[in-house]
Amino acid sequence: MIDTLLKISKLSIEFLLPEGSLKAVDGINLSVRKKETVCIVGESGSGKTVTALAIMRLIPKPGIISSGEIFFNGENILKIPENKMMQLRGASISMVFQEPFNSLNPVFRVSDQIGESVELHIGLKGLAKEQKILEVLKLVGIQDEKRVYNSYPHELSGGMRQRVMIAMGLVSNPSLLIADEPTTALDVTIQSQILDLLAELKEKLSLSVLLITHDLGVVNEIGDSVYVMYAGKIMEKGNKSEIFNNPKHPYTEGLLKSVPDLGPVKRRLYTIEGNIPNLKELPNGCRFHPRCPYAMEICKKQTPVETKFSSQHSAWCFRYQGGEEQNG
Ligand code: SF4
Repeated sequence: MIDTLLKISKLSIEFLLPEGSLKAVDGINLSVRKKETVCIVGESGSGKTVTALAIMRLIPKPGIISSGEIFFNGENILKIPENKMMQLRGASISMVFQEPFNSLNPVFRVSDQIGESVELHIGLKGLAKEQKILEVLKLVGIQDEKRVYNSYPHELSGGMRQRVMIAMGLVSNPSLLIADEPTTALDVTIQSQILDLLAELKEKLSLSVLLITHDLGVVNEIGDSVYVMYAGKIMEKGNKSEIFNNPKHPYTEGLLKSVPDLGPVKRRLYTIEGNIPNLKELPNGCRFHPRCPYAMEICKKQTPVETKFSSQHSAWCFRYQGGEEQNG
C-alpha cells in the first residue's frame, strides 16, 4: 500500500443524458505504484480517456462520477474541496493530451504557456521563471531551447509541440503524469523519440506514468503493467510480460493478433469482428460476447467474475471459471 501512488476503487462514471443515463465506466479498479508505467489499452469508446479525466476531476458535464473512490498518495481526491484539487492538478498530477496543436493556445508563445504553470504552481517570476522554462525545455530534449521559448505553436513541428506539452506537464515536478495517446498524432520516428523521452524522464524524475493508448506497440515499448479495457470495464490486467506472452482474455488475444507484423512474411491483418457496443445498448452478460469467438451460452446471460492467474494477472472471462480453461 505504501508503494501505491494512485488507487482507483469501484469507479463508475455516468453521463446523464435527456434520454437516460449512460455508464461510460463501470466499477473499475486500478492502481499505479511509485515509479511505475501503467497502460490502459483498448479501442476508442472503451472508457480510457474518461477514466483519466476522472483522476483530474475534469469530467465534462453532463458526466458525473456516480460511485467509487480515487486515492492519490493515500487521500481520497473525490472528497477534497475544489481549491485543493486545483493545487494538485497540474502540480502533483499532470496530464499530456493527444493532439498538442489543439491543446496549446495558438496566440501565446511557448514561454507564456509554460510560464503560467511556473507562476501558478512554483511561484517563480521574472528571470527565475525564464530560467525554469529554459531548463524544462532542455530536460525534454529541446536543443535550441531559446528559439522554442520565443516561438508560437504553429512555428514548431508536431514532435516539438509534443515535447513542449510534456515540458508543461513536468515543470511543476509532478509525481504522476497522465499521458493520453501522446504519440497518436506523430509519425513513427517521432513517436519512438517521444516514447524514449517518456521512459528516460520516468527514470530521471522518479515519475509514475499512466499512459492511455489503443496501440499495443506503445505498451510494449514503455509499459510495466497493463489494463485492457472494453466498453467501460476492465477485461484483463497483468504485468507486460503476462499480457503479451500469456494473454487470457479473448479481447486481449484479438488486440495482440491485430498488431501489424513488420516481418518478411506477409499475412492478412487480423481484425476483431464487429464494433465496440453502443453504451446505450450494452449486451447482457459479458459485454464482449457478440464479438467473441469463444462465446458460450452462459456468456450471454451472466457477467464474468475475476479469475486470478498470479498476484497481478487477472481476467474476467467464463473460459477460466474455476481456474480451468473451457472449450466454447
Ligand atoms: Fe468470450 Fe465468454 Fe470470455 Fe466473454 S466471457 S470473453 S464471451 S468466452
